[in-house]
Amino acid sequence: MNADRRLAEVRRHLAALGVDAFLVNRSPNVRFLTGFDSVFDDEPASLAVVTAAHSLLFVDSRYEEAARRAASGTPWRVHGPERDVWESATEAMSEHGAVTLGVESTVEHRRFTKVAGSFAGTVAALDDVVEQVRVVKEDHEIERIAAAAQISDAAFIHILGLITLGKTEREIALELEVFMRHNGSEGVAFPPIVASGPNSSKPHSTPGEREFEQGDLVVLDFGARVGGYCSDMTRTVVVGQATDEQRRIYETVLAANEAGLAAVRAGLTGAEIDEAARSVIAAAGLGERFGHGLGHGVGLEVHEAPRLGPRSEDILTSGAVVTVEPGVYVPEFGGVRIEDLVVVNEDGCTVLTHSAKDLIEL
Ligand code: ZN
Ligand code: ZN
Repeated sequence: MNADRRLAEVRRHLAALGVDAFLVNRSPNVRFLTGFDSVFDDEPASLAVVTAAHSLLFVDSRYEEAARRAASGTPWRVHGPERDVWESATEAMSEHGAVTLGVESTVEHRRFTKVAGSFAGTVAALDDVVEQVRVVKEDHEIERIAAAAQISDAAFIHILGLITLGKTEREIALELEVFMRHNGSEGVAFPPIVASGPNSSKPHSTPGEREFEQGDLVVLDFGARVGGYCSDMTRTVVVGQATDEQRRIYETVLAANEAGLAAVRAGLTGAEIDEAARSVIAAAGLGERFGHGLGHGVGLEVHEAPRLGPRSEDILTSGAVVTVEPGVYVPEFGGVRIEDLVVVNEDGCTVLTHSAKDLIEL
């Protein structure tokens, strides 16, 4: 982990924006900037402050011991819990002579108002500063994402043996989670989606008590987490034998997935990659049935920059990790989605998801 590079990049952005000090509160951003493993949880309770010369971390008593230990030998100075972290940080910035203070635009409005009210200089809301630095992954970050992808590949093979008539979506979702956690995943990247039969036409269906029936399409979308980093994959299978229409839709989505994978490379926009896959689905007369974007970045969060979608102007960069996940969803009939996780290269991409993609009939 290169904390110095991360800080240097953030400082470059701040200098360009004319900001003297930057308050970072989003938990994945604090984790990324400090590079501290096993210190922060999902709660946005800590504040990282970056100025041209200093990097300060304000934590409350719940995180203090772990933070102090992790900070030793790093550029981070930890401020303990004697006062409210927001008050301490705002005051420290004034003492450091900051005139323009940047605050992440995702900070709650009431917090922002309080900071703006107590800081003597100008306070500006900044969008996506750390998020942009997070886009290009370092090698060790890619290793963690690949390890998480490997766990989800293993979970897919495992779960195929358990999808049988009468089992419920929730049972399979739980089993996916248990298997991944038994095999090295810290929790899950997100609650698994197991959508069967008519539920499969809802892209983000929540697993319920529905029992699998003969002829169901089953969409399985899940991910593991290793060292804080997520994986994300989707496969769709059929319980019993697929009908001609199920097979036609499946083959269309698979062709779109492969066209998307073939299109991914540094320098293209998210919209261009999206179009490569979307045009395959449109050509099959199913364009109206693919409502969501083609993919998204994956890292410390399961959904992060860049976006792949019809309106995305994000330009893909080498070292970004993104999903390619076309889908076709027909209400009452069902849906198919196939999602792979890839690392963007100068001349293509490296696929991290290795699960089979031929139509599986259980
Ligand atoms: Zn997914
Ligand atoms: Zn996804």
